[in-house]
Amino acid sequence: MTMANFPHVRFGFSVEAKALTRSLVEQVHGKEVVEIKGRSHRESLIQHPVKADGLFTQEREIELHVFSADCLPLLFFSSHEKGPIAAIHCGWRGALNGIPSHTLQRLKDVPGEIHVLFGPCIMGCCFEVRDDFVHSFEESGKSIGAYLERSRGRMFFDLPRYVREQELGEIPEERVHWEENRCTYCTAPPLPSYRRNGGTDPRIRAWIKKA
Ligand SMILES: [Zn+2]
Repeated sequence: MTMANFPHVRFGFSVEAKALTRSLVEQVHGKEVVEIKGRSHRESLIQHPVKADGLFTQEREIELHVFSADCLPLLFFSSHEKGPIAAIHCGWRGALNGIPSHTLQRLKDVPGEIHVLFGPCIMGCCFEVRDDFVHSFEESGKSIGAYLERSRGRMFFDLPRYVREQELGEIPEERVHWEENRCTYCTAPPLPSYRRNGGTDPRIRAWIKKA
């Protein structure tokens, strides 16, 4: 199944200078997702962004967006035109805090079946981590051994595979889509990478809207 099967959804991952588009949320690597109800609510978020890392809505013509540079952007949508859409920002802290599974819970009990689209992020080839990183997950009772690759004394974490399997395992394979399955850090042409550039300008704007 390709994304072309869903004409009721528009989406994209664009590389943008920070000044171009204002944020709807103040991203804090947590697990909160905010439901947008109406255009005026969206406008008020632009004026006063709340601390959250994701947004969802069931309404048409409401564009959701999040920003990333190495963190994983995830877009959710329903197979049904009356169903919800969501956009979330998920780095390792978001994964540790469980924002993908939390979002999925918020989207349940609505028309249609939920699909997820993975955007570009730093991948297992480049996401070097240390022991304290592993301990953070272990302290939360989460085992990430299967997602660590050790090479010449260094250790790398496969963030998207962890999220796919541990956070979103209940979504069947045919409803998981990958947009540009390439690493923000190492692939050419270069994508915004916080680790490579030491900053987040420009950054990736992941957006979604129901037509
Ligand atoms: Zn890489």
